[in-house]
Amino acid sequence: MTRRIPPVLLLLTLLVASCGLVTGSPPDRAQPGDAASGGTPCRGTGDDFRGDVMLAECLTEWFWSRRFRESGGTYRPITRFVAYRGDDGPGCGGEPAVPENAFYCPYGHFIAYDTDWLKAMYDEIGDGAVYVVIPHELGHAVQAQLVENFRFNVQRELQADCYAGASLGGLIRLGVLGAEQGDEEELLTNLRLAGDPTGAWWAPDAHGSPAMRQRFFARGYNEGPEAC
Ligand SMILES: [Zn+2]
Repeated sequence: MTRRIPPVLLLLTLLVASCGLVTGSPPDRAQPGDAASGGTPCRGTGDDFRGDVMLAECLTEWFWSRRFRESGGTYRPITRFVAYRGDDGPGCGGEPAVPENAFYCPYGHFIAYDTDWLKAMYDEIGDGAVYVVIPHELGHAVQAQLVENFRFNVQRELQADCYAGASLGGLIRLGVLGAEQGDEEELLTNLRLAGDPTGAWWAPDAHGSPAMRQRFFARGYNEGPEAC
């Protein structure tokens, strides 16, 4: 995506599946520089998968850096952004990376994602998938820098959804990203699809029901980070 939110279909599939831990290899990050995007240091036009991934990461971190600064704090950028394939992902805190996943690893403060898995969603759903999965994982990186006191995993996941919505909505309001008619609805529809199929909110891997995920994402999107 260039500066518009593509036909977003998102992600819920992504969200559901995503979230593990991982690690890895050499950094694979967008370097600030050329072709800045909308007054940000992010380059890239988002015309292809790789460009969208780089742009989503850069813009989301730019959003949080700005946000932390406005609040008198300092955002700590993730150390690396690791693309892996299948089983060759980086481990995290003794846990191996698993295929078809994306995760934030607090040990090392990095994010890793199965690139074939994310690319398949991108091809099938549209670039919106990238703009939901990456902001969600960066939402966990933000949580790691704020007070974390969750009794249940589902609370952590829903807050990450809220942060993802907040960064996306914030970027759109700042004019860095542009939403097309219908995008918001598509995002929400897709989030609904990504919820947990069962009502076991207490489960260690629970991410929340479709309606809850949608509600938290929308809350952040419409009201900003403080509402999360
Ligand atoms: Zn998560």
